Amino acid sequence: APPLPESVDVVVVGAGQAGLAAGYFLHRHNRDASRRGLRTLDAVLLDASARPGGAWPRYWDSLELFSAAEHSSLPGRAMPRRLDGRTPTAADVAGYLADYETRYRLPVHRPAPVSSVELDEHDGPEIEGRGFAVTLADGRRVRAAAVISATGSFTRPFLPSSAAAAEAAPRQLHAAEYRRPEPFAGQHVLIVGGGNSGPQVAADLLPHARVTWATRRPPRFMPDDVDGRALFRVATAHVRGESDAAVTQLGEIVAVPSVRRARDEQGLRAVPLSEALAPGRHYDAIIWCTGFRPELRHLRALGLRHTDHGVPATRRDLPTASTDVPGLHLLGYGDWCGPASATLIGVGAHARRAVQDIVARLA
Ligand code: FAD
Repeated sequence: APPLPESVDVVVVGAGQAGLAAGYFLHRHNRDASRRGLRTLDAVLLDASARPGGAWPRYWDSLELFSAAEHSSLPGRAMPRRLDGRTPTAADVAGYLADYETRYRLPVHRPAPVSSVELDEHDGPEIEGRGFAVTLADGRRVRAAAVISATGSFTRPFLPSSAAAAEAAPRQLHAAEYRRPEPFAGQHVLIVGGGNSGPQVAADLLPHARVTWATRRPPRFMPDDVDGRALFRVATAHVRGESDAAVTQLGEIVAVPSVRRARDEQGLRAVPLSEALAPGRHYDAIIWCTGFRPELRHLRALGLRHTDHGVPATRRDLPTASTDVPGLHLLGYGDWCGPASATLIGVGAHARRAVQDIVARLA
């Protein structure tokens, strides 16, 4: 990568699917602006990881997407279909994202972990009289007028502490650390979690290990025909006020083929967590499929106000925009910063509006 500039208009922190979608709209703005003789924007994308693809190269090998390739694309470039007709795997998405950043020649720097973003009075480009100082873990600094934070959640796995669990198994790990079933062959494994990861990991392990699947509440499978595209439609209609149905009313678990097979043919059933961890129960390992929290530690110095849900407050009319700090956008973390923003198909619309807001403020 070329050396880091000292000052740019926009720093995008993170170059997973969300950061790349923002990079795409910055690229498109510059292409149109230079044709029309308007101001272009200098930008860099700073990504902590040494390799492209965001979280995707780190998921378990058998992970299946919720939807077909044609409904799993970022703006501008379609995800290629698989020759065998199956939905894309995590490796397919990682390859697609690597190709995406090369194709649009996005200015990604890596490994470039950002340790802090601070407000800064400086001479460079600014919004409402202020800019940002972005500091990397190695001490390098980049100044920017605007920051789009797109750091995902993979680096913040949520693992409940449980004394009962510590008694029940010598080994505990989070789904973020799970890669493949072979190391668990012949073992008794407790899988905890009623979201999408729990049943997918359970289905992956079933042919190799004795599996107990436990959830706090009875698991709620979505109807078998609900895929990522249907979820996107429901989420968008709900937020636009066109429908009362929220995605969570449909259920919590997308019935991807491996999960359907495990449930219908291999008898995968959930037991209550209290029963699975009752005194005297023992397992070789527990895999916690208990979700993630947004990775926002680099924004601590900004002292953002948080909502009752424990996430930074963002604007109603522009859900990526921080209410406290003009020029700061939060992209791709979940519905709180844009409906369906944590999906490939959904993040583009929010990235476009975030970039439009920055362009308007810097024009
Ligand atoms: P990430 O992919 O996590 O990328 C964030 C990037 O930021 C990473 O490269 C990271 O290294 C970098 N970073 C983090 N902190 C810093 C820092 N301080 N400084 C610099 N860089 C930093 N999504 C779909 O669209 N369709 C699906 O079908 C689908 N199925 C899924 C199934 C399962 C079982 C799971 C677990 C997830 C699924 N997802 C699906 C969700 C999807 O994987 C994530 O929502 C997505 O990876 C989020 O993208 P992101 O760009 O926001 O974050």
